[in-house]
Amino acid sequence: MAKITKLDDIVSLCKRRGFIFQSSEIYGGLASCYDYGPLGVELKNNVKKAWWKAIVQMRDDVVGLDCSILMHPMVWKSSGHADKFADLIAECKKCNTRTRVDHLKDRGQKTEDGGQKAEDRGQRAEERGLEVSAGHAEEHTEHIAIDAAMAKAQDLSNKVCPNCGAVGRFTEPMPFNLMFETRMGANVDDSMTMHLRPETAQGIFANFRNVLDTTRVKIPFGIAQIGKSFRNEVTTKAFIFRTREFEQAELEFFCEQGTDDQWFEHWKQARFDWYIGLGLKKDNLRFREHDADELAHYAKACVDVEYRFPFGSGDWQELEGIANRTDYDLRQHQRGIRTLNKWYENDRELTNIELAKEAEDYNKGPLSYFDDQKKQRYIPYVIEPSAGIDRSALAFLVDAYDEEEVRGETRNLLRFHPALAPVKVAVFPLVKKEGMPEIAKNIYNDLKKYFNCFYDEKGAVGRRYRRQDEAGTPFCITVDGQTKEDTTVTVRDRDSMDQVRVSTDQLLNYLREKLEI
Ligand code: ATP
Repeated sequence: MAKITKLDDIVSLCKRRGFIFQSSEIYGGLASCYDYGPLGVELKNNVKKAWWKAIVQMRDDVVGLDCSILMHPMVWKSSGHADKFADLIAECKKCNTRTRVDHLKDRGQKTEDGGQKAEDRGQRAEERGLEVSAGHAEEHTEHIAIDAAMAKAQDLSNKVCPNCGAVGRFTEPMPFNLMFETRMGANVDDSMTMHLRPETAQGIFANFRNVLDTTRVKIPFGIAQIGKSFRNEVTTKAFIFRTREFEQAELEFFCEQGTDDQWFEHWKQARFDWYIGLGLKKDNLRFREHDADELAHYAKACVDVEYRFPFGSGDWQELEGIANRTDYDLRQHQRGIRTLNKWYENDRELTNIELAKEAEDYNKGPLSYFDDQKKQRYIPYVIEPSAGIDRSALAFLVDAYDEEEVRGETRNLLRFHPALAPVKVAVFPLVKKEGMPEIAKNIYNDLKKYFNCFYDEKGAVGRRYRRQDEAGTPFCITVDGQTKEDTTVTVRDRDSMDQVRVSTDQLLNYLREKLEI
């Protein structure tokens, strides 16, 4: 149970300290939507910066992109999302609640950490706003064969409704499309049904030609993007783990068939190392290879990087998926381009149109790549590491969270890696007199040119330290009586609470070295 309590602690710290708020809270909140407060937006931006630095800035073989959220309807026909991006759901005949079939638990099933039974747990978790999960959430059906998912989900006779606790009272499983619909255009006659993108990846495939034509990239190379995605998820909750609006960081890495296995291994390791490098504890991170029956028909391999989140059954959950998507997506979009006329003829509606057959010489199509050394055209294979920014931010928060007893008091702290800490340095005058605030303000004004700083002169210094510990600030600088005598200040380390005196003219170098900035 301790693990479940821990998510409650995170949620309340996030609210108390302005990391994350419920969306539209003044109107009672909007389910599964969250707003990032002053500290949260810094944390989230830092996660994005760290991803972009590792994937784009530090590599010569990856370029960036920022696509629009609304895309041509044919994009979703070609990608398969219009027809197949669904969760299998079943409706409880007693209370009419629809639940993802892969989230249902068996009667009498205990959680993996020895918690209470599903039928009891349903109500208690719901009350606390946490997800009722059957441990491992399976993939949406865009990633797996829908028939296999249906076959696996048939027997619901022993499953418990997480809402009312009824057992075996479900309808047959049915697919539920996860894309949000909207309409574009002011005129009723020519407005079009559109979808908010459910992933950022398709914008990359749609721009593959543009990037080839305007840059000097040569295979192997990647295109990276960070941006918002939207899914009308059936089961949400669990705070920001699964929401209906979220941010993804995706890389499509294009390579020649035959080198794909090696690149798959490369990205698998690189992504695992990224999380470890930013401080996630190794014990809480693992790979989960997908079984053959979980793989989409086009995918050659798929592995999830999983983190041991402290909710649900205290189970391992996906942080990021890494897939070998073969040449499927670009070939599908070539078919989509060939279907465009049909779409116009069909009053620009997707219903009732089939994707055109693939051209026999598809390898020479508009989305092919020309290898000028081998003098050969082909459709490249794609390795896709696909991460969630919000989910990563939650993992970093959970992993950094700590409580310890200091002189009879509980100290709450976030042991963030410096690159992720929302505020890097806090500057305090010991007291609000004797010229200390002026010196502290000068130091603060100097340092904030280089990194996010915070100035605070209110209350006892011990309490100011504690507030910064809770915000995850790695260093606090205090100007005191000695500063005026020898121009040194104290620098207090968040994790060890050790204090050292540093001369003000050495301060910037000292902090830069410690913060690795
Ligand atoms: P899940 O199985 O958890 O539903 P998925 O396999 O459907 O996720 P992908 O389509 O592979 O997820 O998306 C890549 C990443 O995007 C996920 O690993 C996750 O970090 C993030 N992500 C996906 N859906 C959501 C969501 N509803 N809320 C927050 N993050 C999400």
